[in-house]
Amino acid sequence: MGVDSLELSYAVGLDVERNVPLGPFTSLKAGGPADLFVRTRSAAELSRVLTEAHRRDLPWMLLGGGSNVLVSDRGVRGLVIKAETAAGQRNRGQVLSESTDAVELRCEAGVLTAGLSRWTASLGFRGMEWAAGIPGTIGGAAAGNAGAYGGDMATNVARARVWFPDGVQVLEVGEMGYAYRASRLKRTGEVSAVLQVDLRLGRGSTDEALAQIEANELQRRTNQPTERSCGSVFKNPAPLYSGQLIEECGLKGTAQGGAQISEKHGNFFVNRGHATASDVVALMRMAKQRVYQARGVALEVEILLVGEWAAEEVDGL
Ligand SMILES: Cc1cc2nc3c(=O)[nH]c(=O)nc-3n(C[C@H](O)[C@H](O)[C@H](O)COP(=O)(O)OP(=O)(O)OC[C@H]3O[C@@H](n4cnc5c(N)ncnc54)[C@H](O)[C@@H]3O)c2cc1C
Repeated sequence: MGVDSLELSYAVGLDVERNVPLGPFTSLKAGGPADLFVRTRSAAELSRVLTEAHRRDLPWMLLGGGSNVLVSDRGVRGLVIKAETAAGQRNRGQVLSESTDAVELRCEAGVLTAGLSRWTASLGFRGMEWAAGIPGTIGGAAAGNAGAYGGDMATNVARARVWFPDGVQVLEVGEMGYAYRASRLKRTGEVSAVLQVDLRLGRGSTDEALAQIEANELQRRTNQPTERSCGSVFKNPAPLYSGQLIEECGLKGTAQGGAQISEKHGNFFVNRGHATASDVVALMRMAKQRVYQARGVALEVEILLVGEWAAEEVDGL
């Protein structure tokens, strides 16, 4: 692609690299390269890079922890921006206001969700215990309304600072358009990026918060695989569960190349060490087809397929 990475590096004041494999930056550890790749460590840096990319008409994609995406083997054209945060800030937020029963925290988009959950619990801030096992960043979680064990981001977010091409806006939670694993930003595909998230939490016992986390984590370890994966592949078609539907079709343990439908949970597809993105989508197509034939339920994909895909790879998904 015709962009001078050195010149772009100067323009944004950050190291922009060329042809960077994205697998290492995803929880599945699979997928091809980004034409251009940059890491940002603050909301200010993220905003600056986004504005510059927009000004140049350079296609860009945001990556948080890469725990909800499947990157194609051909990789991503344009600039991939990995939202991180400064060392020492990775698991924490800044207290904005505090009362006897509530606290508001400001978190940079690149703060790690699971670390933040444990940090808040250790201070007796209640409400994020559900998030202790969720990989990735709070920006990714806020954009996708991550949730587990009865909690979700829609319940914790007070407001978010969001970059749009025509300027940064503060969206109150009611303006985020939250729904099951979706938000206005994710559902409409509006060009946008979460820069900062303000969380509203309760206050209570640290011991109870940590005990709640341990109970949730025990359940997670019991029911979910520990191998590399990208989390739940399909949305649950309420009141049914995708994992159960896939299991009922006898597909647990089915392998394709280096990818496998987990022996432990039908909705987790794991990397046996040498999976390609193409292996994973082949398994997804097969599982979707078999569930539809058996139960008449059309499973809807939850993970985001990003990068360049051949039509036949994603046909029917
Ligand atoms: C083992 C495992 C267990 C999981 N369990 C759960 C679970 O219980 N519940 C659940 O909800 N999810 C779960 N997930 C999925 C995933 O962890 C969450 O969706 C997570 O919040 C994604 O955050 P991320 O930073 O990794 O996003 P990424 O995967 O990096 O990105 C996902 C999408 O969000 C966009 N995005 C990233 N950052 C931003 C930002 N700052 N602003 C706007 N858009 C952004 C990306 O462009 C992409 O479209 C699990 C995943 C794994 C691997």
